[in-house]
Amino acid sequence: MVREIKQKKEIYRPFINYFQKSNSGFLLSNDAGYNVCLNKKQFEAFLKGKIKDKKCKNQLSEKNFFRNRLDFDVLAERLSSCFLKDWQGPHIHIISVTKRCDSNCFYCGANASFGKAINNDMTLETAKKTVDFIFNIRARDLMVEFQGGEPLLNFKTVKFIINYVKKKNKPFKRNIHFSIVTNLMGMDEKKMDFLIKNKVTVCSSLDGQKALHDLNRKSPKGSAHKIVSKWLKKITLLSKKNNAIESPNAICTISRSSLKYPEQIVDEFLKCGLKRIQLGPLDPLGKAALNWDSVGYSAKEFLGFYKKAFDYIVSLNKKGIKVYEKGALMFARQILTGQRPRYQNLDFIYRLAYNYNGNIYGSDEARMLSNAGDEFFQLGNVYENSFESLLNKPMARTLFLSAFGFLTQPLCARCVYNPYCHIMPVYNYAAQGSFWGNMATSERCKIFKGVFDIIIDKMADKTVKNMFIDWIEKYH
Ligand code: SF4
Repeated sequence: MVREIKQKKEIYRPFINYFQKSNSGFLLSNDAGYNVCLNKKQFEAFLKGKIKDKKCKNQLSEKNFFRNRLDFDVLAERLSSCFLKDWQGPHIHIISVTKRCDSNCFYCGANASFGKAINNDMTLETAKKTVDFIFNIRARDLMVEFQGGEPLLNFKTVKFIINYVKKKNKPFKRNIHFSIVTNLMGMDEKKMDFLIKNKVTVCSSLDGQKALHDLNRKSPKGSAHKIVSKWLKKITLLSKKNNAIESPNAICTISRSSLKYPEQIVDEFLKCGLKRIQLGPLDPLGKAALNWDSVGYSAKEFLGFYKKAFDYIVSLNKKGIKVYEKGALMFARQILTGQRPRYQNLDFIYRLAYNYNGNIYGSDEARMLSNAGDEFFQLGNVYENSFESLLNKPMARTLFLSAFGFLTQPLCARCVYNPYCHIMPVYNYAAQGSFWGNMATSERCKIFKGVFDIIIDKMADKTVKNMFIDWIEKYH
């Protein structure tokens, strides 16, 4: 339904929520998630309501940039699909089955207990309570992710949860996906067989070439790189032979030592057979916060690194080598289609995290903070709470509000990227000392803006835009 107000002159009156000058012109976006790039002449004509270029005018009209030609049906559909359409509760459930770890990474955000035989494994009783809690939420899809510490150190509980979830799901027939985030140090054939049989996606850490990986991720078992690359290659090979086996994923946590090696890091992923590269900036949590002077860096330094890595990925694609960066794909999908990612990580709304003792949080980062003794974000405990009871908690409601940055954050409300971005309260709290933070000085906000700028600028090149379209079609 297009509401058109006939006027004698200038019927195309501009409707924009946000705009920003970029290298390739002016970037405009609106609350429905549409965006468009205009050159200076087009932008000035658009502002005056006198745009002549027919193609440009049609494009602006289709994307709801004219206030007197708004298509309210499309706007309603797009806004509701971005926010809470058919929402029935969080579907991502991150379970930390132990606080223990057998690696001693110097940027560990989880404050894992290295080398200590402390009794902080999740018991089978707590595991059962956690699964019961999860099944009382009505979300159709469930994604259960095992975290730690190192989850392979409490594999008995991992196995119990998988078997119990499957048994409990029989009458419900929900779509269930399992994943395990592991350093792979304790992997063996028996564990691997169980994970493969149960279609569990293995996600590990790969920080780059041997020297870099082993510098960041110390292991008493010798070279962590040797072990992780062995298993990643092995699972990749198995997944290539058998489509039913999920290919593994790896995350590269960028520390200060990584900044010099953008190309080498990408090459290392390729050597392990991984097409998906994930370049994650370091958050100031746990040991990373304590060691920030030696491991941390500024947003500007990260963006310099990211741009080089991204340019290299583009050059590989131009040579026919299929490889993509997860963050770039996610942003490109949002920019080109207006869609939110399939499993967007809005705290509490779409995900919950459970500590080994049954404490519940809106995100894994909040759970990590609690390992350092700060329970600011704790929502409840699986022994005491139902999901419904959490809905009444002030923290849950505040997390809910935080998903709507355009209503609750003064700078986000004017930011061209806000339809595609969300704030992270735990980051704000850890880095800036408050739930809401201050986007004007937030390094995370600078990184987001910088990565968006890189993606948007690159899209001006038709070949790169087609590469993104190809990624969107092929990868999830
Ligand atoms: S966090 Fe920063 S980049 Fe994201 S919407 Fe807010 S101001 Fe924009």
